[in-house]
Amino acid sequence: MKITSSYLLALLTFAIVGNAMAQERATYQRKGYTLTFANNDATLDSSLQHKLIETFFKVYPKIAKEYNKQTLKTVAFVVDTAYKGVAATSNGRVVFNPKWFHQHPEDIDVVTHEVMHIAQDYKRSVGPGWLTEGIADYVRNQFGVNNEGAKWKLPDYKAGQSYTNSYRITARFLYWIEKKQNRGIVKELDKQLRERTYTADSWKQQTGKTLDELWQAYIDSPAV
Ligand SMILES: [Zn+2]
Repeated sequence: MKITSSYLLALLTFAIVGNAMAQERATYQRKGYTLTFANNDATLDSSLQHKLIETFFKVYPKIAKEYNKQTLKTVAFVVDTAYKGVAATSNGRVVFNPKWFHQHPEDIDVVTHEVMHIAQDYKRSVGPGWLTEGIADYVRNQFGVNNEGAKWKLPDYKAGQSYTNSYRITARFLYWIEKKQNRGIVKELDKQLRERTYTADSWKQQTGKTLDELWQAYIDSPAV
C-alpha cells in the first residue's frame, strides 16, 4: 500500500493532538506522605510543577502536625485544563486550573490553602462556610512558602467588612483573636469543627465574648 503524504500528515496531526491530551502522571513519596501528580496541560512550566510538589511536601506535614495528625497520608494533585475555578479539594484530591498559574505564577500557596482543607476534613460542616475558608487562609498565612512573592497578605480592617466575608478578611479577624484574646483558638475551633462539637457558643466558651462582641472589639481596635 502506498502511503500518501496526506495520510502521513493526518497521522502526524493525530500524534500531536494525542500528546497534548495526554495525562502525565507521577507518584512521589517523602517522610510517610505520598503525592500523586497528574497534569493534562503540556504547556505547564516544569518549574511550576516542581513548586507545586515541593510546596506540598513542605507544608502538608506541618499542617498535619499542627492541626490533624490523623489526616490522609496520600493526596492527589490533578492539574486539569477542563477545570475552570482556581482550585478545589474533596476527598484528598485537589484539582487545579493551570490557567490560574499561567496568570499568577507566584501564587503557589493555593496549595497551602487547599491541603489545609484536606486536614480540616469537616465533611458536611456543623459550622459556617466562611469559617472553613477563614481558617484555610489563616493557615496559608501561617505556613505559606511564597505569600510575599505573591503579594498575598491578610488585609488590614476596613469599614464595611464582616467576619462572614470569608477567606482573608475572616483570617485577619482570627489572627487578631489569636493575638489579643486567646492564643490557640484557631486550633481549638478547627478541632471542634472536625469533631462536630462546634456551636455558635464556642466563641464565648473560648474567649468570654460572643462572636459579635469579638467582632465589635476587633473593629474598635483592629491593630495587632
Ligand atoms: Zn478554600
